[in-house]
Amino acid sequence: MRGYAPEKLENYLSHDLPVAPEAPTFASLGLPELLLKAVEAAGYTHPTSVQAAAIPAAMAGGDLMVSAATGSGKTAAFVLPALQRLISSEKRAVPGGGPRILVLTPTRELSLQVTKACELYGRTLKWLRTASVVGGVPYGAQLRAIRGTLDVLIATPGRLLDLQKSGRLDLARVEVLVLDEADRMLDMGFIDDIRSIVAATPDTRQTLLFSATLDGDVARLAGQLLKTPQRIELASHRDKHEGITQRLHWADNRAHKERLLDHLLRDTTLDQAIVFTSTQRDAERIAAVLEASGHAVAALHGGMPQSQRNRTLTGLRHRRLRVLVATDVASRGIDVPTISHVINYGMPMNSEDYVHRIGRTGRAGRTGLAVTLAEHADLHKIRGIERFTTQRIPVSTIEGLEPRLPEPATHAKPGAGAGRRGNGGRSFSARPHSGRDRDTRSERTTGTPQRARRP
Ligand code: AMP
Repeated sequence: MRGYAPEKLENYLSHDLPVAPEAPTFASLGLPELLLKAVEAAGYTHPTSVQAAAIPAAMAGGDLMVSAATGSGKTAAFVLPALQRLISSEKRAVPGGGPRILVLTPTRELSLQVTKACELYGRTLKWLRTASVVGGVPYGAQLRAIRGTLDVLIATPGRLLDLQKSGRLDLARVEVLVLDEADRMLDMGFIDDIRSIVAATPDTRQTLLFSATLDGDVARLAGQLLKTPQRIELASHRDKHEGITQRLHWADNRAHKERLLDHLLRDTTLDQAIVFTSTQRDAERIAAVLEASGHAVAALHGGMPQSQRNRTLTGLRHRRLRVLVATDVASRGIDVPTISHVINYGMPMNSEDYVHRIGRTGRAGRTGLAVTLAEHADLHKIRGIERFTTQRIPVSTIEGLEPRLPEPATHAKPGAGAGRRGNGGRSFSARPHSGRDRDTRSERTTGTPQRARRP
């Protein structure tokens, strides 16, 4: 792997993810010895639910469409069976012949994350050659990587297509194509690129599609590109994010939001935090404001050179940074278990991004707190998120920092049905969060949401 510093293995160890109900072992899934060793070295004792379902299904050779929540262990669910295929076949990659396994991801960050996972799960395969091809970085190292022998290529669609069209990358030997976070790739407008890439791979390939949702556009894409896929639906955006406590603070204006943010970041129980903004400019501005008030902070957004983004992420992993102020470029693919807080300073573009943002905390079996700072103009977005997740976000106030404006009257109705019956959603009341957000001021959480009105 090129382009960034190798990370310590310990960074990827986690032991507490929910495991499949009948608790199969990795060995019982039929994985070969070499991969069992790698999984053991990664510290995993049992497969997660998505791994238990998808690994044997993928090893059977057919196409799959899998919905799995962020942080569910989905990367190993496609990497392990793909590596098993490489191990079990007589074929070997030929220099300049292109990859045998191709993984497409929506963002560079996710590409790099998947590349690291591949190296972790394939560490016992001495011959394994893995590379990533992403936009925003120089071509040199990537070209050298694809000119040599290459087993697994992880790529973002734009740069990959660029290399394929210019004849520098051959996709004719792809045996397994993985579309990771397919919903996000469609949202980002990659549909034509994906079609062109798929057309350059052989018809005999196995296609594995992973997505937060399997409906709508994703279902249409699967209908066009997959052959009688097996559908594995384990978790979805409707899942309750068990380890993550969500909370909403109404703010009167920007200045009030900044005071709330400063208060939240001074919480001594906060380990590391990602503060999400809606714009690159806000990411820069907030990072500068926080730095001036003494926080160990950096900004991360798509307008920064890739080398700088990589350095910032390494700083976060190595805990040189306590706070990362980022746009949605960081809402997927960042897997740092010590992130205890996610704070939405600016609202996400869509409800799905909200789910991905809050999934940056509560990882690897830990708990996390996701706080949204919203102004009244954000009400419709909050309502949309609550409908999407079918969960109410409990409203909180901080003593001394209460909003002066009254709470907006139409605080949402989560999910169809519950609100209509007017039961208010007692099930959405706040859960205490192990005293995490208390320091000098105390906080109150509104347990009983207001009566919902139809939009
Ligand atoms: P992913 O959803 O693939 O991004 O994985 C989320 C996190 O779970 C990563 O930190 C993985 O290292 C970790 N992980 C994946 N599979 C397992 C497993 N079977 N047991 C424990 N941790 C796992």
